[in-house]
Amino acid sequence: MQRITILGATGSIGVSTLDVIARHPDRYSVYALSAHSRVEELAAQCIQFRPSRAVVGSAAAADRLAALLRAAGCRTEVEWGEAALCAVSSAAETDAVMAAIVGAAGLAPTLAAARAGKKVMLANKEALVMSGQLFMDAVAESGAVLLPIDSEHNAIFQCLPQGYGRVPAAAGVTKILLTASGGPFLKREVATLENVTPDEACKHPKWVMGRKISVDSATMMNKGLEVIEAHWLFGAPAGQIEVVIHPQSVIHSMVSYSDGSVLAELGNPDMRTPIAHALAYPERIASGVAQLDLTQVGTLQFEKPDFNRFPCLALAFEALRAGGTAPALLNAANEVAVQAFLDERIGFRRIDRVIARVMEELPHGAASSIEAVMAQDALARAAAERIIAG
Ligand code: NAD
Ligand code: MG
Repeated sequence: MQRITILGATGSIGVSTLDVIARHPDRYSVYALSAHSRVEELAAQCIQFRPSRAVVGSAAAADRLAALLRAAGCRTEVEWGEAALCAVSSAAETDAVMAAIVGAAGLAPTLAAARAGKKVMLANKEALVMSGQLFMDAVAESGAVLLPIDSEHNAIFQCLPQGYGRVPAAAGVTKILLTASGGPFLKREVATLENVTPDEACKHPKWVMGRKISVDSATMMNKGLEVIEAHWLFGAPAGQIEVVIHPQSVIHSMVSYSDGSVLAELGNPDMRTPIAHALAYPERIASGVAQLDLTQVGTLQFEKPDFNRFPCLALAFEALRAGGTAPALLNAANEVAVQAFLDERIGFRRIDRVIARVMEELPHGAASSIEAVMAQDALARAAAERIIAG
């Protein structure tokens, strides 16, 4: 029986994780669940899955959750704040942690799970983008098992030689091919992008996801963050990672080998597949996802990304090449700009301009400690807010 902590249980990945877990009560139990503010949803999850602990974002939310659970006769212990998130991620009573908080807020508890040597199922790509080397060092030191949940990285993991998390020099890997759907604006007239609404940007053609990652998919910053994520997860240099647009999202990514072979992982676009893969690894379990019918899909298309249409993708490659805290600056500026777009404070085409300005204005330094990374994150957030207000 694996005891699972889910960070971000009320989000898109959290809900899909609980869906898979509910199919296998003989294999998995829930140790802890977290949510930021959606207390009613978290209460319903606690009543169904009976975790030992639940963590929310504020004292007021904790009071509300405790009252709801008391009324239902549910004995889950309620806590709040970042220290509690780190505690449930590193507790001796948990075997595996699903890291599915969105954004930099997920860094501390994800790192706590890595340092404690847990099986870390990583959905929170922002944590790795911000602190790649520090995070991978923590995994290596503690002996944690790091399994990618992002569909592309999970696919690459499956296409690499068995037993390898990272690209082994001797295995003849020549390229990592990250596929991208291109998002909702792949074919839209670039001049009209200025006026798109948050709802239009969040209407992804293939995946149902939280609003932040949906906007990232529309700008293709999501793919940019994934290039950086692939660099750290698989030890591949920027020049070995290529982005290929594949609108059907049936191939979830590929690995090329020196003999000309290209291995791909295919499936219907549903996050329960990578979640089930990571939960059961190295075994296989049912996920609830329908089997892929290629005759129904019919055609698979591919094209090169247009960096003029998607300047955020270029910014991410630049940040990866610059190294140090540049990816942390990029990530922080992006989080602020995306939130400003969702709040209708800036237009869609200002997202990339805000990020570019922050990257120009702030010198990046060495990512020598988590404190150094968080200091740069704070500077980039302040700079982005100032640029947006100005
Ligand atoms: P979501 O917005 O649906 O859910 C986010 C979760 O994080 C919620 O449970 C929320 O309560 C919690 N949260 C938000 N802010 C918080 C804060 N400040 N402190 C603590 N908790 C907070 O997001 P999602 O789509 O489930 O994505 C989660 C993560 O997984 C992101 O990093 C995303 O990039 C990654 N991811 C998601 C998908 C997908 O299909 N949804 C695919 C690949 C990777
Ligand atoms: Mg992805």
